[in-house]
Amino acid sequence: MSEVLNVEEIFASKVFTLGKMKERLTRKVYQEVKSVMDHGGELSKGAADVVAKAMKDWAVENGATHYTHWFQPLTGITAEKHDSFVTHPDEEGKMLMEFSGKELIKGEPDASSFPSGGLRATFEARGYTVWDITSPAFLKEDATGVILCVPTAFCSYKGEALDKKTPLLRSMEAVSQQAIRIVRLFGNKEATKVVASVGPEQEYFLVDREKYLQRKDLIFAGRTLFGAPAPKGQEMEDHYFGTIRERIGSYMKDLNVELWKLGVTAKTQHNEVAPAQHELAPIYETANIAVDHNQLVMETMKKVAGRHGMTCLLHEKPFAGVNGSGKHNNWSLATDNGVNMLDPGETPNENMQFLLVLACILKAVDTHADLLRQSAADVGNDHRLGANEAPPAIISVFLGEQLEDVVKQLVETGMADHAIQGGKLETGVSTLPETDKDATDRNRTSPFAFTGNKFEFRMVGSSDSIASPNTTLNAIVAEAFCEAADELEKVKEEDFEIAVHDLIKKYLTKHQRIIFNGNGYSDEWVKEAQRRGLPNIKSMVEASSALTTDKAIKLFEKFGIFTKAELESREEVLYETYSKSINIEALTMIDMAKKQYIPAVIKYTKTLADTVIAVKEAGADSSVQSAVLSEVTAKLAESKKALIALEETMAKAAAIEDQKELAFFFKDKVHVAMDELRAPIDALEMLVDKKVWPVPSYGDLIFEV
Ligand code: ADP
Ligand code: MG
Repeated sequence: MSEVLNVEEIFASKVFTLGKMKERLTRKVYQEVKSVMDHGGELSKGAADVVAKAMKDWAVENGATHYTHWFQPLTGITAEKHDSFVTHPDEEGKMLMEFSGKELIKGEPDASSFPSGGLRATFEARGYTVWDITSPAFLKEDATGVILCVPTAFCSYKGEALDKKTPLLRSMEAVSQQAIRIVRLFGNKEATKVVASVGPEQEYFLVDREKYLQRKDLIFAGRTLFGAPAPKGQEMEDHYFGTIRERIGSYMKDLNVELWKLGVTAKTQHNEVAPAQHELAPIYETANIAVDHNQLVMETMKKVAGRHGMTCLLHEKPFAGVNGSGKHNNWSLATDNGVNMLDPGETPNENMQFLLVLACILKAVDTHADLLRQSAADVGNDHRLGANEAPPAIISVFLGEQLEDVVKQLVETGMADHAIQGGKLETGVSTLPETDKDATDRNRTSPFAFTGNKFEFRMVGSSDSIASPNTTLNAIVAEAFCEAADELEKVKEEDFEIAVHDLIKKYLTKHQRIIFNGNGYSDEWVKEAQRRGLPNIKSMVEASSALTTDKAIKLFEKFGIFTKAELESREEVLYETYSKSINIEALTMIDMAKKQYIPAVIKYTKTLADTVIAVKEAGADSSVQSAVLSEVTAKLAESKKALIALEETMAKAAAIEDQKELAFFFKDKVHVAMDELRAPIDALEMLVDKKVWPVPSYGDLIFEV
């Protein structure tokens, strides 16, 4: 028998939780902390010192030697710089480990090497990390030892956001302030704030580490840049929810334990559609904590994979021909007195607050579809959105039968007097229990689907931070709530009900084009969406300018989420990131083609040629050998030509200075040249003896984990 795992005991054992603070802090300091957490404000210097000491003592008791301000620059991953608790020894050479309130609250890493998109020149290197008191500190343990990690926001000397977290926190405040106005209109006097909650479902691939190390493309680009399809793909649909193999199972078990210790509520695990693809979903949390935890999930997935002789691939499209990976970002809004604003109840037609919230969200998503699309854009996701994989690049909302019917009634008559109910599930088997069924079926093809009491934004890429999508969602919904509240707060009490009705009808009528319940993966939808005038933004670089339209600047500035300068800098960073990533991919392809594929094939042609001669000399029919040799040399010539073309294209890229122009050049020219190199080499993989092929094949990588 294996050791019994006490999950309750290990859960959050590496987190400086509120519970631990309560134990270790005086009542007064604890209450001060709690009040800042719940309602904002600043911790007094005295209290900060007490918290820092308690945090340090707890960390040291658990083996920590260093602390770090853990932050999320625009690289999309996290950053840390370790400082030990070591202080200057006294006369007798004795040293006391210390951590002050000042060190807890503010750090100053050299900011000059993080992307800032021109917000800050290199000589203005100062950047500050500032403690996010609402996200708990935790311990990270690896080869460097145990490190106390303090979640922080990262800003420039002038207070401009240089990270993903600062705008997210600003957006959470904005949506809370506006949502409170809505619930107040409907008589909720107790709620003091509204919290955006998020539950991200994370997809990932696992491959054998030995094989991974033989593929430079996986090492440098995180995805295969070459590779002929395996004889079997995902067509049998035998992997999704399939039995989890031993090696994977033991990985998942370890992963859960590590995550639980970090206070991440890892809940669901299963095999995904593609071979070697899996998913993990945690229980939802407050948006900023969910963002932090998702970063920890991604980091831990990679770390634990190493221990099991595997590598975790988070790239959105590691393998052509089988499904890529995404992240389903489940999002909702709840008041601090327990009301989920997205819960329709049994009879949504009667729930006026819910209908107004729904109408506002539809309005927000329709008005800012371009921004939402942009928030899910990253380099890898270009292989999914708008490419030959779903979800499509067109934003639409799935409501399901019940709500769509309510919306229809409201638009047509201004009244909704009934709601379709789910009824009973009939299986035709008398021994199976009769159960209630949901009023609405699911739709897996919608990028933005209502799923009972939350929206599921399914466009997000698997490797990306979920900060941007949630910042955008909070911002656009805050704006819609604000506009609705501005109108309704003016109305006299006796006219309120009619005014709400009219407003809902107005919003739904104007924005119903965003609702689509059909198959989002079909070609008809692309045409229909075009007819409706919905944007279809096919790539990350095309999506980037959505950040700096007048509409976007007005929105983000109004709610203090981004300044115009911050938005412009972010757009710039996106172009840079795109160009740099494709540049790495192209260089990796050139490297692999030159040093691995072409030499291997040349060697093979020699073997073939020798065989042709030997067979001929022996007086036998050498036509098959000759034919294979001709086929291989033809593809070899094609490869060489495409290689030269790619190198020439790259040389042209080097001459472009404007970042936007360069990014478009990489998308339109370099990418195409890359595809042209891949094609003949993939064809060669099918012609050449497997023994001489220099790297593991798709079959080796995804079927033999
Ligand atoms: P579904 O099957 O509808 O996708 P699940 O129960 O599997 O729903 O949940 C998927 C994810 O959505 C989980 O991470 C879950 O915690 C999260 N989730 C559930 N309710 C909410 C909510 N109100 N707000 C945000 N996320 C939620
Ligand atoms: Mg789901």
